[in-house]
Amino acid sequence: MFYAFKRSFFNLIYPASCLHCGDPIEQPDVYLCDPCTHLLELLEAEGRCVQCFAAGDLVSATHCVHCAYRTCPVKAAAALAYLGPAATLVRQMKYGQKPYLAKGLAAFLLVQLVKLEWPLPDLIIPVPQSFSHWLDRGYNQSRLLAEQLSAVLNRPFTDVLRRQSGDYSQAGLSHEQRHRLNSNRFYLNDPEVLHDKTLLLVDDVMTTGATLRQCAGVLAHGAPRDIYAMTVCKA
Ligand SMILES: [Zn+2]
Ligand SMILES: [Zn+2]
Repeated sequence: MFYAFKRSFFNLIYPASCLHCGDPIEQPDVYLCDPCTHLLELLEAEGRCVQCFAAGDLVSATHCVHCAYRTCPVKAAAALAYLGPAATLVRQMKYGQKPYLAKGLAAFLLVQLVKLEWPLPDLIIPVPQSFSHWLDRGYNQSRLLAEQLSAVLNRPFTDVLRRQSGDYSQAGLSHEQRHRLNSNRFYLNDPEVLHDKTLLLVDDVMTTGATLRQCAGVLAHGAPRDIYAMTVCKA
């Protein structure tokens, strides 16, 4: 009787079923069942472009056909493929009002960072979110990831990278106006703090890496030593 009460009590607080497949879960403090957890595998860096983490189409040992001629200051990688349970966790963190998932997802950033033997960053920098997205959710998932990573690495994070407030509504703008806004939508509020620092830019999902490159291009104005970028998933 008391056990049944306790179970129902826990079920109110914790999801009693897997967030991905819906199967029941025994442990009260996990979000995926065992089979779904086993599907979370770290992506291998081998055979991927060092700048955009695309697999295949490499024209040299390190670069894809798109990045080979880019003057791009960022090295980018992701921890997981944007598929299955990994994609579910990211979507739930972002759209499902489950910001607490950032803690577990940041752990994947950490293990990938260690596996890739990247240097420990001097500063961790979240990709800023548009104002409208922040209004929708009340939090920036990239900032939550940066905060969690900052706590486990014992390295500071900073909101030095900002997004133009004009980015919150692009409705009614012409194609050219949108393009101008997009190409100029990030800025630094204090470039000096970046000088000679190793930076780690953090975001939830990378597709082509265009946003990370754009952010890195802006961060470069602060004359950092190196810019790395890591996302939870690679689409
Ligand atoms: Zn499952
Ligand atoms: Zn590339």
